[in-house]
Amino acid sequence: MKKILLIKGDGIGDEVVTQTKKIINFFDKHTDKKFTCEEALLGGVAYDQYQTPYPKQTLELAKEADAILLGAVGGPKWESLAYQHRPERGLLGIRKDLQLFANLRPAKVFNALCDSSTLKKEIVDNLDIMIVRELTGDLYFGEPRGVSTLADGSRQGINTMTYNSKEVERIARVALELANIRGKKLCSIDKANVIETTEMWREVVSEIAKKDYPQIQLSHMYVDNCAMQLVRNPKQFDVVVTGNMFGDILSDIASMLTGSLGMLPSASLGEKQKNGKQFALYEPVHGSAPDIAGKNIANPLATILSFAMMLRYSFAYEKEADAIEKAAALVLDDGNRTADIANKNQATVSCSQMADKVIEKLNEIMAN
Ligand code: NAD
Repeated sequence: MKKILLIKGDGIGDEVVTQTKKIINFFDKHTDKKFTCEEALLGGVAYDQYQTPYPKQTLELAKEADAILLGAVGGPKWESLAYQHRPERGLLGIRKDLQLFANLRPAKVFNALCDSSTLKKEIVDNLDIMIVRELTGDLYFGEPRGVSTLADGSRQGINTMTYNSKEVERIARVALELANIRGKKLCSIDKANVIETTEMWREVVSEIAKKDYPQIQLSHMYVDNCAMQLVRNPKQFDVVVTGNMFGDILSDIASMLTGSLGMLPSASLGEKQKNGKQFALYEPVHGSAPDIAGKNIANPLATILSFAMMLRYSFAYEKEADAIEKAAALVLDDGNRTADIANKNQATVSCSQMADKVIEKLNEIMAN
């Protein structure tokens, strides 16, 4: 029995997680994979109830769960709150407390949606790459940092890019393991020609790969070239690993190759502990979309596909994860579209109808 913590959050988070729960229930009812779900509050809804975006009991439940599925947090209602009360502080807080250092962002193009990309069809069809971003180090956390006024009255801003070799090693191992179960190719991204921290990054990744993963074809690329290659010829990549700052930008470029925010899942993983437990949070890449919240028109597929990632990476339920991805592809092949992925004048299905269509396909796939 796997224990899942559902954190719906704000805006469309409620709708997309509620729809994904139907998929969880499907597996619980019709297969030998069993789940129990609990719910916790985070973000604006948590603030409204407890005057904090990150209640203590949410962290406690998160620590007890085998994996967490999150919708999204934030919205205009809470934008004027003091910094520490804003919904985003809840999300950053839980990521920090669970030490979720590895962010996995697949960029996969579903054949039926090839035309949604701004790039030419032949550049993106069948694209399936994985960006692995380090999430707890680098410029975003390095000290010293801040802006000060100098003696001559001008202001100086300082941020520090910092990584130690242990941090590089643990993210390298996550990426090498992923490459091992995918296409056995890893490209590590740095700026080793001008930034010493990333020169060390390159050395550590090379050492680990040579010592423990000789079967993986490792290459290195400068970040500026990678940005260019991602739009020129993205299919040359399989798994890409990089630091927090470069990963922030490259993962957004990669995800937009697919053309649709409502289709993009993600996972954030912690370190495996001695007892085998590994904290993991799965969430769609999109935000709370206040402009469409409460209308039952959001695309639930990014969250449903995030649940598929949970099955694969937290529970090693490959068959069930594959089934969800296949079901989503078939539903799209049949022409079902939520508004965000529909062409002009194309009929649309609602958020709940999309989830029901996925379940219909799952029924067929799992019966075979
Ligand atoms: P957003 O991702 O919420 O929305 C951007 C656009 O994409 C909107 O037009 C929205 O309607 C559309 N969209 C997003 N997801 C969709 C889906 N599943 N189906 C159909 N259309 C979808 O980004 P934003 O508007 O910049 O931010 C809105 C709020 O979300 C802000 O408060 C922001 O801070 C927050 N946010 C939260 C997260 C998170 O929780 N991880 C991430 C990004 C933004």
